[in-house]
Amino acid sequence: MKKFTLTIICVTSLMMLFYSCSNRNSQKKPKYIFYMIGDGMGLAQTQLAENYLDAVSHDTATTHLEMMKFPVLGTATTYSASSFVTCSSAAGTALATGHKTNNSLLGVLPDSVTPITPISQKFHDEGYNVGIITSVTLDHATPAAFYAHVKDRNMYKEIGYQLKDIDFEFFGGAGLRGLKDDIGLYDSLKANGFVVTCDKQTILDHKMSDGKLFAYNPVTNALPPDIPYLIDSRNHDMHLPFYVKKAIELFEKDKKKGFFMMIEGGRIDHASHANDPGGTLGEMMDFNEAIKLAYEFYTRHPKQTLIVVTADHETGGLSIGQASTGYASYPELLDYQKISYDKLKAQFKEMANKDVKPTKEEIYNILYENFGFNNGDPKMALNRLDSLRIDFFYIHDFDPSRMPKYGEMIKPEIYRTNLVSVHNMAGLAVRIMSEKAGIGWTTGSHTGGAVPVRAIGVWQEKFDGCYDNTDIPKKIYGDL
Ligand SMILES: [Zn+2]
Repeated sequence: MKKFTLTIICVTSLMMLFYSCSNRNSQKKPKYIFYMIGDGMGLAQTQLAENYLDAVSHDTATTHLEMMKFPVLGTATTYSASSFVTCSSAAGTALATGHKTNNSLLGVLPDSVTPITPISQKFHDEGYNVGIITSVTLDHATPAAFYAHVKDRNMYKEIGYQLKDIDFEFFGGAGLRGLKDDIGLYDSLKANGFVVTCDKQTILDHKMSDGKLFAYNPVTNALPPDIPYLIDSRNHDMHLPFYVKKAIELFEKDKKKGFFMMIEGGRIDHASHANDPGGTLGEMMDFNEAIKLAYEFYTRHPKQTLIVVTADHETGGLSIGQASTGYASYPELLDYQKISYDKLKAQFKEMANKDVKPTKEEIYNILYENFGFNNGDPKMALNRLDSLRIDFFYIHDFDPSRMPKYGEMIKPEIYRTNLVSVHNMAGLAVRIMSEKAGIGWTTGSHTGGAVPVRAIGVWQEKFDGCYDNTDIPKKIYGDL
């Protein structure tokens, strides 16, 4: 009897071993990988964009964000090694390497010196073509987490020096923040074999045989040097989908090799830091166009492609629904917003610095033009509290010598309203816009909730369920 039991155990073990081996073999590593990260894109940011599409569409059955069509949805926790609320460099490190680190460290362990290899490098070492694409500068936290190792994410010059030695085939985005510390950074990239260009035609004509490409959007003097928000776009701007399209075109021709592409919707975060609803929506739509391109590619190579769409954290504490509108929600009103918080703030600052200050009527007219306030749509009518707040910030921004007296008089009523993160007239404008649309914000920083992970293609089933952000690169690379 004992012998018989032993035989059964042995046979069963052998069968299990055979099954697990054959199962592993059948799950071949994806050849083409799109790792798409919406910076600051919590569940509420995706829901806002989805609700907007729903509200403006007459055919809700077919109008969805591209990622909503993906068959697998999971969630990932985002805490860093030093806080439940992560920053982008700790989260980027987790998403790129599978290791937790402290806020503000980048590509190194919490000891701040030990470098950690990102999966982009591992894939490259295995012969994959690699592309790093973003709507912010290519030395910013998320993209840099895929190639650099520094003890402070703001060490842009150092990050730039490390970039020049990287052999990835494609970098596309908004240039380098490090240029302000070292004007020679582009020359050192060129000296190390990069074609560095912001000329659209040169980028379009570029072939793999021309060498590794560093393509960036033309910069203006205005800081930050990121690609302008979609809501403020200028005719010549090259947005996220432009670079994604180019990278796909280059890599798809190289049939022998697979590719790994990290694509970051980097300014969803910036607009959400500013609590800017139209800015956030525009960046979500820009990211959505990039996801559409990845999905089109997937339909051509469904058996070899994996697309993973996730976020590093949520920004702004965005909520669908807020106090003064209760259960009502009007995301379609965001169509009235024509300018981002950042651009309006710069415009107001310039006006405040002039010798002749703008009149209150001029300011009201700018708000009417750019946000649709009092445009005849009853939902956009400014109420007494709106006007009171606008009058308050008019004094605050343009006539500050009157502030103490005026501020004291008006403060109690003003401060009964939700003015968290509102510091100036531009901030108030996007806050009133949010309120009209039924959108709330709780912070000008990040929040610590879990983020959605959506997947389609080879290995999609791995992304089902609840896990940690450090598990995502392990699932993509095949360690998990
Ligand atoms: Zn952020």
